[in-house]
Amino acid sequence: MSTEHDPLAAATVEAVQGGHVTVAGLGVSGSSAARALRRLGARVTVVDGGDSESHRSRASELEADGVSVRLGDAESLPADTDLIVTSPGWKPQSPLFAAAEAAGVPVWGDVELAWRLRGTASGKTGTPAPWLAVTGTNGKTTTVQMLSAILGAAGLRAPAVGNIGTPLIDVVLADDPPDVLAVELSSYQLHWAPSLRAHSAAVLNLAPDHLDWHGSMEAYAADKGRAYEGNQVACVYNCADPATEQLVRQADVVEGCRAIGFTLGSPGPSELGVVDGILVDRAFVEDRHKQAQELAEITDITPAAPHNIANALAAAALARAYGVPAAAVRDGLRAFRPDAHRIAHVADVEGVAYVDDSKATNTHATQASLAAYDSIVWIAGGLAKGATFDELVRASAPRLRAAVLIGADRQLIHEALTRHAPDVPVVDLARTDTGAMAAAVHEAARLARHGDTVLMAPACASMDMFVNYNARGDAFTEAVRSLTADRAHDAE
Ligand code: ADP
Repeated sequence: MSTEHDPLAAATVEAVQGGHVTVAGLGVSGSSAARALRRLGARVTVVDGGDSESHRSRASELEADGVSVRLGDAESLPADTDLIVTSPGWKPQSPLFAAAEAAGVPVWGDVELAWRLRGTASGKTGTPAPWLAVTGTNGKTTTVQMLSAILGAAGLRAPAVGNIGTPLIDVVLADDPPDVLAVELSSYQLHWAPSLRAHSAAVLNLAPDHLDWHGSMEAYAADKGRAYEGNQVACVYNCADPATEQLVRQADVVEGCRAIGFTLGSPGPSELGVVDGILVDRAFVEDRHKQAQELAEITDITPAAPHNIANALAAAALARAYGVPAAAVRDGLRAFRPDAHRIAHVADVEGVAYVDDSKATNTHATQASLAAYDSIVWIAGGLAKGATFDELVRASAPRLRAAVLIGADRQLIHEALTRHAPDVPVVDLARTDTGAMAAAVHEAARLARHGDTVLMAPACASMDMFVNYNARGDAFTEAVRSLTADRAHDAE
């Protein structure tokens, strides 16, 4: 049971409406928060440490809407600030927050702001839309989109919002609000959202990530665990990841709220799982000891990789907690298609499948991705963000035909391969230029045998070579396409 004191309890919605709010950060979330606060009648100052051309042009757009902007100083607290609303990426150790604490000024994140202001837009009646929350180290976006598709198939207006890109504040203050929200929450957002109380929430998995921001694995897990605080109906956890169940046990929830597990195996009572290729619910049925409800088949899921089946089960659990019928789970999963660069099948060339999982930017995601194929030529490398690769390579070695390495921190992966998979041939391209991806695809094509998968799941961030993971995935796709064209040309 958590008895944590809520230091923000004193700050009220009225204070937001009548006071001076400082917004930390001039990005997407900060700009939409600033505009919403202005519309609600607050005096708003946005602060940002940057002062570039693009900062100035965004600042002048906000100024036209009556918002003050202070560029080039992210540290000092503007005079008379009643409340800080921070963008999620700002570190808790930022000097601005130390100044706020010293002055007794509360700090809310974008999610806290949306939670506190939900249902306050003028002219609205009734209770605000409940939130079904999804967090975890990997699979958030996919799961929240699956959830939105399932709720949609049940006839509900339920957009996927939050960390996925649609700012929550805009959704909760809309004139025509949705029925229920499928909310993706990052660990940063949860850190800054102490009073959030979701209808139900899922923590998909927990692996080291963003530790530089949170300071430690314990602090990261504690922030993820906030998703369960005050849940009303269900806390959904991953049976294969005991750390997620541990977070449920630590949470202080509403009386009667249930712990619901999901598993790729046969489900026990109060679990959702898989039996003979069928997704089965033994939680939201009348007698969970004797009954099971068939929800969908694994062939309804695209792609039907193990971790994606887990995502589907988590989405189904949240939808069922909300009372959605089994047929909507099936219809929603059938309608769902993943976003680009997430285990995307690009082409088959001479009996070899080429798969783009550029979004696998950490080792946990890559391990899940490698587990989905039997014989792999693995393209990896980039910015390691402090990660180690031993566990990943040890777990995946039997599936590796070969590895092709690119990017700034490729040496770390090379060393792990040498230690744990000495028989796996490694081509170290020793390149960090954008064109290296085409060379990597050519090397991989040379190493692959009929029936293999060339999988680009780099276990690293992309920014050493590309603008972002999308650009990296596009470069891979383009290289595979030109491979196809070359082969067609050779055959002529
Ligand atoms: P997030 O929003 O948490 O970053 P995404 O749904 O965008 O998650 O998936 C990111 C990557 O994580 C995918 O490309 C895939 O490699 C991997 N992934 C997706 N779901 C899972 C899961 N349940 N467990 C482990 N890895 C996963």
